[in-house]
Amino acid sequence: MVSLIEVDRLDRWHDVGGEKSRILQAVSLTVREAEFVTVMGPSGSGKSTLLHCIAGMDRPDGGTVKLGLSEIFAVSERQRTLIRRKFLGFVFQFFNLLPDLTVRENIELPLLIAGDRPEHQKHRIDELLVVLELSLLQARLPHSLSGGEMQRVSIARALSTRPPLLLADEPTGNLSSKAGEQTMQLFKTLSDRFGTAILLVTHNPRDAAFGDRVLFLKDGCLDPSHSLEGSELDAATVFARLEALGI
Ligand code: ADP
Ligand code: MG
Repeated sequence: MVSLIEVDRLDRWHDVGGEKSRILQAVSLTVREAEFVTVMGPSGSGKSTLLHCIAGMDRPDGGTVKLGLSEIFAVSERQRTLIRRKFLGFVFQFFNLLPDLTVRENIELPLLIAGDRPEHQKHRIDELLVVLELSLLQARLPHSLSGGEMQRVSIARALSTRPPLLLADEPTGNLSSKAGEQTMQLFKTLSDRFGTAILLVTHNPRDAAFGDRVLFLKDGCLDPSHSLEGSELDAATVFARLEALGI
């Protein structure tokens, strides 16, 4: 199967109080087409840094990131932006919706940025509104929505240009546990229905268990022998693995 993400021995250092501190240490991972991978790690373990490096928004100090066939730090800034636009949607913890645009306009925005015309993608937008149960809300402004609804809008926005890959950074971190579970269920539905590959990072073991494969990040290190997948994977085994790893 085709790899959408290939991360090879990624290193990232930051200056903390005048001292160099290693945030990511030789992290390698692969995400294949249509795969739903979750990365489980406590706060401060390097999850956001990892996603930002994969999206080409933060430059690593060592190692390589390939999105499809492109090694994203071997190309120009301009090319990196184009690859990012074509290849991925990003979902954040704090929704990042534009307050003066309606739900539909927020979802259409990435099309405009990519130079496409929303009316050419009407079918796609309508389909996303249906799948994400937003049809009745499409003329509303973000401030009138619940957290779960806002996150559904931001997921629809991330998918409007049909990227093969979705990156999600703690997407349930700002939601009630019920809305969080519904949102995780939606990621699963979207990956099944559209074949979108998903790389989702979380500190919530229940969220992590929604993936087809769970990787564990501890202090910037990701040991592939600790990953869980297939029939061995449920919330209880994720909790047990966390305890075994002392996370
Ligand atoms: P997570 O998303 O898992 O909570 P982060 O990737 O945000 O972790 O951060 C990992 C570590 O890197 C933390 O200790 C954080 O303080 C540190 N860090 C992140 N960004 C910077 C930065 N720009 N400068 C210095 N330290 C940073
Ligand atoms: Mg984070």
